[in-house]
Amino acid sequence: MIGGISLRSGSSGNCTLIRNGEKRIIVDCGLNGKNFTNSLAEIGETPANIDGIVITHEHSDHVSGLGVILRRYKIPVYLTEKTFEAIQPRLGKFENSLINFILPEGKFTINDQQIESFLVPHDAPETLAYRFITSNGDISVCTDIGAVTPEVLTKIKKSRLVFLESNYDLEMLTNGPYPYYLKERIKNGGGHLSNGQCGDTLCHLVNSGTEQITLAHLSAQNNIPALAELTSVQALEEIEAEQNKDYLLQVAKRNQVSNWMQI
Ligand SMILES: [Zn+2]
Ligand SMILES: [Zn+2]
Repeated sequence: MIGGISLRSGSSGNCTLIRNGEKRIIVDCGLNGKNFTNSLAEIGETPANIDGIVITHEHSDHVSGLGVILRRYKIPVYLTEKTFEAIQPRLGKFENSLINFILPEGKFTINDQQIESFLVPHDAPETLAYRFITSNGDISVCTDIGAVTPEVLTKIKKSRLVFLESNYDLEMLTNGPYPYYLKERIKNGGGHLSNGQCGDTLCHLVNSGTEQITLAHLSAQNNIPALAELTSVQALEEIEAEQNKDYLLQVAKRNQVSNWMQI
């Protein structure tokens, strides 16, 4: 089986499992040890079978469970040196040999699984997205992204399965309770993608061959899952792409395991 599944998604915690046959890679560890183990058990997986963990950036909703999971399961982790330096004080004790540095932009392998890392604009010093290369096509995980630059679009284009951020509805954010500075931070190109920006990006992706989409990292305050889905589906209707015919789309769940998407 080749595919991916969101175990948690949103500002309270992010964790995604990518599976390529017997190779299993986790993207981000923003959930506690108990939820990590239970989520994997729910889908018939176990921490012992995970080949590695890749980290996108230092924000706590992506790394809060990493220290415990490193100690308990001794899974190798792959991250940039800069991100490691930022999170090291929060990790507690762990075996140094589990830490593997990767370049912000480049290719590396975990047990023969080829992965490409690339930088995305976001308000952490170094934020990455990942493209997993498989015999059935590519899988991209692209959350926490302030803007889809042409460079980012080139990297994720043609991926058959994409986990893409659809963080906020612009109207809800504008009229919502967040202070002005935070509203600006979210939407200034270095924060998060709006539903509209996500929909526009998906038009490019579906035109380039993307068939399966998981909308990820929805804001609890400034979004509603049905609205995020509707915005993307309507954007895709404009390029005459029809849901469940030309592509499958789901919204990742905040506190639960979502559904597998397979390519
Ligand atoms: Zn995040
Ligand atoms: Zn972030």
